Amino acid sequence: MLTIQGLTKTYSNGVQALKGVNLEIPKGMFGLLGPNGAGKSSLMRTIATLQSADSGSITFDGLDVLNQPQEIRRRLGYLPQDFGVYPRISAYELLDHLAILKGLDQAKERKEVVEGLLAHTNLYQHKSKSVSGFSGGMRQRFGIAQALLGDPDLLIVDEPTAGLDPEERNRFHNLLVSLGEQKVVILSTHIVDDVSELCPNMAVLAGGEILLKGNPIDLTQQL
Ligand code: ADP
Ligand code: ADP
Repeated sequence: MLTIQGLTKTYSNGVQALKGVNLEIPKGMFGLLGPNGAGKSSLMRTIATLQSADSGSITFDGLDVLNQPQEIRRRLGYLPQDFGVYPRISAYELLDHLAILKGLDQAKERKEVVEGLLAHTNLYQHKSKSVSGFSGGMRQRFGIAQALLGDPDLLIVDEPTAGLDPEERNRFHNLLVSLGEQKVVILSTHIVDDVSELCPNMAVLAGGEILLKGNPIDLTQQL
């Protein structure tokens, strides 16, 4: 369970991106829905310990996220928005390098992890190709593979399906749903259908504030 209380953020240019966000996010898929500029990425980056908040708290399984960033980073996977610039090395090599940076020092163990993640994301048959030549859907699945290094309990996925064709979107959805069986998976998006199809729990963020929260079926009935 991830708990966010009274979270505020004003950037140095004066933009108030988060205006007191309160949310409880249980295990499983959670949809954070909102239009561009709502504050979704600001919230995701704050949970991912990549930027500070001005006030408020975030706790994950008893850890104080804002004050214990090292501990949370070990348990966190993050697929940022616009993840997509890759060096011209193979998918296998790139994931292998990222695994080394994550602290997987043992070559044998690392090979198992890297091959396992490539298989899990349906990329094993493409492991010798450069990620820079991957399709949009393959890149997003690679993004999930890198986010899963270290077997995180909390996975943050920011605007993942923009620009994917229906088949790749489906494949990506299935991957997220299977991950939601074990982890807290937060899906941030402006696409209503992504949330209504995938997420038993959701919230709507707009102008830095939570407007609605609940399950998509109840919320749709209120509209
Ligand atoms: P903070 O207030 O947390 O110090 P900054 O205002 O210094 O944040 O911005 C952090 C980074 O985000 C800077 O590198 C800045 O160029 C970049 N940035 C600025 N405006 C925007 C924006 N509207 N959207 C995304 N990134 C931005
Ligand atoms: P979303 O992900 O929902 O599109 P963001 O969190 O990116 O929303 O942006 C919320 C608001 O904060 C926007 O007005 C955006 O321009 C502004 N913003 C985002 N990042 C920065 C930054 N680093 N510095 C200054 N302003 C930012």
